[in-house]
Amino acid sequence: MIPASFEYYAPRSLGEAVSYLASHRDDVKILSGGQSLMPLLKMRLSKPAYIVDIGRIPELDGIKEAGDQLIIGALVTHAQIEFSELLKRKCPLLPQTATTIADVQVRNRGTIGGSIAHADPAGDLPAAIMALDAEIQCTGPNGERWVKCREFFLGLLMSVLEPDEIVTAIKVPVTGADKTAYLKAAPRSSGFAVVGVAVRLALDAGGTCSRAAIGITGVTDKAYRAAHVEQTLTGKKLDAKLIEAAAAEATRNIDVIEDINGSGEYRTQLTHVYVARAIEAALRG
Ligand SMILES: Cc1cc2nc3c(=O)[nH]c(=O)nc-3n(C[C@H](O)[C@H](O)[C@H](O)COP(=O)(O)OP(=O)(O)OC[C@H]3O[C@@H](n4cnc5c(N)ncnc54)[C@H](O)[C@@H]3O)c2cc1C
Repeated sequence: MIPASFEYYAPRSLGEAVSYLASHRDDVKILSGGQSLMPLLKMRLSKPAYIVDIGRIPELDGIKEAGDQLIIGALVTHAQIEFSELLKRKCPLLPQTATTIADVQVRNRGTIGGSIAHADPAGDLPAAIMALDAEIQCTGPNGERWVKCREFFLGLLMSVLEPDEIVTAIKVPVTGADKTAYLKAAPRSSGFAVVGVAVRLALDAGGTCSRAAIGITGVTDKAYRAAHVEQTLTGKKLDAKLIEAAAAEATRNIDVIEDINGSGEYRTQLTHVYVARAIEAALRG
């Protein structure tokens, strides 16, 4: 399929990109890695009159350390995250997650900014950034703002991002000695999560869980934090019985979706199983 015609603009600076977006805000789309947008254009599910390709803006690239935080540019690809030695040492949950995304071709082109801006309810990185309490930098004509990821996602392909704003960076913490893991169940055909679970656990010297953060994707219309699981784990020593009991809370108060990959009942059960497995995987290290 061939996309509908559009005007293509490839700015070399963030300022140029933001001005272009502001002047065409009613009918413009940002192109980053193109892995989600290009199929939509080709199927004519999206027919913007203007496309701004942000792929040549140097300010949006690179991973920087800033004290106990890491700032990841929006253009950083899934493959760069997967192979980043800095992230492997300082925030391994992101490489653990990126390595599960699609295939090598998609990981070489797809970007963290695109993945988050797209707000796909089955996207992998949204679960990881939820577990990390990441912040998302959004830049528009009125300057930049940092949005907490819990406030960023609104629902199916919807976020608080304005049409003339660009996701410019993602801020994640250095996770130090915390135990992390990402596990997903996905059909081989698409690789998209039927359920994906990101886990971050802090254990004290005696092995008691002092903090738990569980981000889940694929299960409802947006990535979410499994608050009841976290509450059940926190302040206790994590044995198999407790982990099972906590995992059974993963879909409490969640409107679990049904689709071609499974019924609501199936997905609920799968979520409980994968939450338990992901916690165990994090503890194994
Ligand atoms: C075959 C296939 C399998 C896939 N499997 C998986 C998978 O298993 N797991 C997974 O998580 N993803 C998967 N994806 C999606 C992939 O990860 C995409 O890379 C990602 O969703 C979008 O990133 P992108 O850079 O390609 O964005 P694009 O496709 O360029 O853009 C996607 C959307 O986000 C907007 N956008 C892009 N960048 C920005 C920005 N910086 N600021 C504001 N808006 C922006 C665009 O306007 C567009 O609406 C798959 C894709 C394909 C084609």
